[in-house]
Amino acid sequence: MESTTKPLDFIRAMVADDLRTGRHGGRVITRFPPEPNGYLHIGHAKSICLNFGIPQEFKDQAAAGARCNLRFDDTNPTTEEQEYIDAIKRDIRWLGFDWGEHEYYASDYFEQLYEWAIQLIKAGKAYVCDLSAEEISRTRGTLTQPGMPSPHRDRSVEENLDLFARMRKGEFPDGSRVLRAKIDMNSPNLNLRDPVMYRILHEEHPRTGTAWCIYPMYDYAHGQSDSIEKITHSLCTLEFEDHRPLYDWFIEQLGIFPSRQTEFNRLNLTHTIVTKRKLRTLVEKGHVRGWDDPRMPTLSALRRRGYPPAAIRAFCEGVGLSKREQTIEIARLEFHVREELNRTADRVMAVLDPLRLVVTNFSEGQVEQMEAVNNPEDAAAGKRTVPFSKDLYIERDDFMENPPAKFFRLAPGREVRLRYGYWVTCTDVVKDAAGNVVEVRCTYDPLTRGGDNPPDGRKVKGTIHWVSAEHALDAEVRLYDTLFSKEDPNDVPEGGDWLDNLNPDSLRIVKGAKVEPSLATARAGATFQFERLGYFCVDPDSESRRLVFNRTVTLKDSWAKGQKG
Ligand code: ATP
Ligand code: MG
Repeated sequence: MESTTKPLDFIRAMVADDLRTGRHGGRVITRFPPEPNGYLHIGHAKSICLNFGIPQEFKDQAAAGARCNLRFDDTNPTTEEQEYIDAIKRDIRWLGFDWGEHEYYASDYFEQLYEWAIQLIKAGKAYVCDLSAEEISRTRGTLTQPGMPSPHRDRSVEENLDLFARMRKGEFPDGSRVLRAKIDMNSPNLNLRDPVMYRILHEEHPRTGTAWCIYPMYDYAHGQSDSIEKITHSLCTLEFEDHRPLYDWFIEQLGIFPSRQTEFNRLNLTHTIVTKRKLRTLVEKGHVRGWDDPRMPTLSALRRRGYPPAAIRAFCEGVGLSKREQTIEIARLEFHVREELNRTADRVMAVLDPLRLVVTNFSEGQVEQMEAVNNPEDAAAGKRTVPFSKDLYIERDDFMENPPAKFFRLAPGREVRLRYGYWVTCTDVVKDAAGNVVEVRCTYDPLTRGGDNPPDGRKVKGTIHWVSAEHALDAEVRLYDTLFSKEDPNDVPEGGDWLDNLNPDSLRIVKGAKVEPSLATARAGATFQFERLGYFCVDPDSESRRLVFNRTVTLKDSWAKGQKG
């Protein structure tokens, strides 16, 4: 069944079946188990959506309750920090999920895990081994060769109990001994060749402090933590598929609650790194401003950039699950961001590269308040007014002195519609000493107020945006491109470095932008469509006299089109 059915269908069928047969007493409990060694990224979003989504889907059928636990998998004291725990919680909530009071820490189970280890030693299923990490890996064998049994494999139970207790007491230095499960050095599955359960690490832990100097390995901690929490369905990524027999072995040997592991593929995105370790390198080496630099794939960065959580959820649902690793185009994520913002973001006018436009027949000092629609996709968003005056700014590339045939915007002698303003005709240009156009001069037609068609029935092909020079606010606009130039940032030539694939043009800062005055009250985090330019989000760096915007995404879609064609 598993090999022919899509994993999501398989998971749904399994959960439905377990509920029907009462296998877990009418309960569906999943968990999201981040290791607090960095910020969550878009890959984690897929796991969060799945782990929180499944119980939500089945809550009506689960008589005894359905939920997702948040469990910090904090078994590795060297890399974990409180800052990450706080950020992880903030980001899961932002994404739209809630674990209620079910916040757990694997480190809270250290005592129980230790007792279970003793139980396994007593049953002759675990032993203390004095080989070094390097010797253990060397004697583990290969896919074609069996492993070599450790010389300490047949230590007596008493000796093992004694040594393990002394490991805990701190009598031995780091790396001098480990506790191993006694399974099968000939197993075709390398994970079953006497895997390490505990290592010695004289390291302070953020939660348990100096109480422990032995720490459980992932494989020994994870399944048992699931079992302690009575997780019914433990959903994890494909790299753990080969670990499942070991997951099951510990649970069986200990005779504890039978949590069941099911795997799905990781999310990989083009031009993107989704590994906390490497993301941390980018932060530490200063290639980005921090974990929330809008070019990062972390949830904090996507939030700062203006990605709506609903778009991320729709994306995760859209890509679904598979049993094969695949890489998703970044354009597909952007497609969902555009879809969502098109529905929800107010439209405003902003000019990124201003060129002065003077309406010569408009009275000096006169200001007209023009009515503008906030969101044509949402009548409830209402209307606002935008001031129109004699001195305006338009986008420099909406004017051409010698336009090619297909150019329908402003040019000498041409007429265009100023959106929500008037129709204007270019009569003249002013140039600087170097011959650059520094001002275009136009006349307006009073019968086109609001940008409406004039009664004489004449037509224009172009509509352009504008702001009133006197009323406009200054803004800095940050334009982003992918952080990595290569589609696969990990694709490096012999002797190369993945950091060489960083895109030198991933950030372009536009200083002199002009935006309409209604944005004076915009708060950090608010998203807008700048008409004709894209979606933009107010950055927390904004000050009242100098707004800062991040370009969330452009208007042009390169994904949906490809799907049809
Ligand atoms: P990283 O390499 O970024 O540290 P990880 O898997 O070690 O990733 P964890 O904090 O252990 O990070 O992950 C918590 C959960 O999120 C795990 O269940 C893991 O399987 C899942 N997860 C992590 N990365 C992805 C991804 N790219 N796609 C889907 N799920 C992921
Ligand atoms: Mg991990």
